[in-house]
Amino acid sequence: MIDMKTIVVPGEQVADKPVNSFGVYTYNNKTYSKQLGVLYSVEHIKVVPLTGKYMPKEGDQIIGLVIQEDLYGYILDIKSFRLPYIHKRSIKTELKVGDLVLCNVYFVNEIKEASIDILAKLETGMLFEVSSKKVPRIIGKHRSMISLLEKYLGSKIIVGANGYIFAKGGKLNILKDALKIINKYSYVDNLTEKMKVYLENIKWGINMSEKEEWYFNSKGKRFDDRSQFEHRPIKLKVGVIKRADGSAFVEWGQNKAIAAVYGPREMLPKHLADPNKATIRYHYRMAPFSVPDRKNPRPGRREIEISKVSSEALSKAVDLKQFPNTTIDVFVTILDANAGTRITALIAGSLALADAGIPMTDLVAGIAVGKAGGKVISDLNKHEEDAPDAVDLPIAMLPNTDEVVLMQMDGPLTEKEFYEVLEVARKSCHEIKDMQIKILKEKYKDNFGGDAEWNNIFTNQN
Ligand code: UDP
Repeated sequence: MIDMKTIVVPGEQVADKPVNSFGVYTYNNKTYSKQLGVLYSVEHIKVVPLTGKYMPKEGDQIIGLVIQEDLYGYILDIKSFRLPYIHKRSIKTELKVGDLVLCNVYFVNEIKEASIDILAKLETGMLFEVSSKKVPRIIGKHRSMISLLEKYLGSKIIVGANGYIFAKGGKLNILKDALKIINKYSYVDNLTEKMKVYLENIKWGINMSEKEEWYFNSKGKRFDDRSQFEHRPIKLKVGVIKRADGSAFVEWGQNKAIAAVYGPREMLPKHLADPNKATIRYHYRMAPFSVPDRKNPRPGRREIEISKVSSEALSKAVDLKQFPNTTIDVFVTILDANAGTRITALIAGSLALADAGIPMTDLVAGIAVGKAGGKVISDLNKHEEDAPDAVDLPIAMLPNTDEVVLMQMDGPLTEKEFYEVLEVARKSCHEIKDMQIKILKEKYKDNFGGDAEWNNIFTNQN
């Protein structure tokens, strides 16, 4: 038998008798957990999920985020698997994308679609997010946790049953940390008491403006805490697919791309072969699971376009003349996407080409720069790319010469803004190229000087 309060996985036995309770099922007179969760008490067994989507219930008070507007209404993100649509004629206030609204769920149908009333528009505050499964701990017994946070931090806090939390006033940056702690340690005993000690011990005096803008806060920081021209963290790896001639894996923020290169090899069908040079066939694909809506696995127009421009970009770097009549196939699959995937893919493709030993005049580096919330920025994430005034400008360069080999643009910039972001992109390309060089050299570092085994073989042969 499992002790009180343990983490259990789906199918794990939690009782040797049948128990009818929350988050469990019975089979052959025994009880098993239905999900990844915390098993509470041996006497009154229940499994509280650690994570999962919000399941709307009638009477819930939730916070919705306006994510789309059309002629007749708005689509709200309520952290559930179905997004409610609100007709404009059913509400008094006008909303725009990015607005937060307090809502009441008045009906949930058999396919778990929530019908909601908008109670109020939430203004000049800050939005936080926790798992909806942690909401009871955020509120605490008889609102104990919320009262504690409001008292210590001087903030007014509204907790949506769906895990969106809105707060205004007081020490919001401390609240942000406190919510993170509660979210992470939700299953710890006496959490309210522990939070009280935490709040008493931390340093005060941080002065934070009440007003948080949608794309930049009062300190000029972006929604994900980055500054104007800061890109998301980048991690590179080469040689990840042993079967391929060359391969690479690139993580750029949430984006993940895996690339494999085969070639130069005979071009098939033969009539596509160029007798003067090799042809780079670049295949950009998004895995169906890489985006929130299932991506149709059949290549769409967007993937065909990205493949074409990326193949042209890489063709500028590769010494194609050396391999007439052949093809160099570059396959890149996006595993996780959050805007900027064509550049993430291109960096992976360029690394994989170098890893395959293909002669190149330079590595291809890139970044998407642009504009959101009225300011020019670099490396837009999906939230920023979806801004009403967003401009996305993916750029790839050969850093040795600063030759631009890919540039696309989906909105207007002034000349001054354009040259400003171009310079930012240039600097980032140089930085990324240094990372590419480092990772390629690292793969072979043991073969030159460091590897004792190799040195031994070498010495013995002499
Ligand atoms: N996206 C999506 N579904 C699609 C295509 C794109 O959700 O079928 C998202 C994905 O997060 C992608 C972002 O939209 O990164 C921006 O796409 P865009 O066409 O601007 O290309 P990217 O910025 O990824 O190079």
